[in-house]
Amino acid sequence: MIKKLIPDYVYKTIYDIPLEQLHSDGIRLILTDLDNTLISYAETLPNEKLFEWKKKVLDLGFEFILVSNSRKERVDKFAKAFDIPYQKFSTKPLKRGIKRAIKKIATKKYEKNQILLIGDQLMTDILGAKRCKITAGLIFPVDKSSDIKSTRLNRKMEQFFLNRIKKKMPDVYNLKLKEFDEI
Ligand SMILES: [Mg+2]
Repeated sequence: MIKKLIPDYVYKTIYDIPLEQLHSDGIRLILTDLDNTLISYAETLPNEKLFEWKKKVLDLGFEFILVSNSRKERVDKFAKAFDIPYQKFSTKPLKRGIKRAIKKIATKKYEKNQILLIGDQLMTDILGAKRCKITAGLIFPVDKSSDIKSTRLNRKMEQFFLNRIKKKMPDVYNLKLKEFDEI
């Protein structure tokens, strides 16, 4: 179980994702979480910086889909304002929402090694990506203090597993998760 919580990559923010590098590594489809990945829970709409980032993502030739566990209208509003395809109520870490995004929403057929999922939570985003056998990128939450109740519960579980990883796989922990754990 804990191996499935280890991200392939860790970035402080989405702006730190080395898009050119990922593209030359063969990634073509980027799935991202919404809350505390693209915007904090306190925000509702994409800002100028995010629009610039999206343009770069698309210009480089990636396909980009939003995959959120939230069922709220804020997901529809954000995705429409940001003009991107999306899957809400995606039930990460279950596979079905992620699979639906890959198989039904994506405009092309992608191999698993061409897909990257980016998110701010080990228990939903990273575990979901690993279950689907796609590449997992962890982002530091945009504003942890804005986490809603369900996310706070997930974070408690996340903390339990971070402690386990620290104990059982100290090298991996130091390399990939220490900084994330300490924020
Ligand atoms: Mg999130």
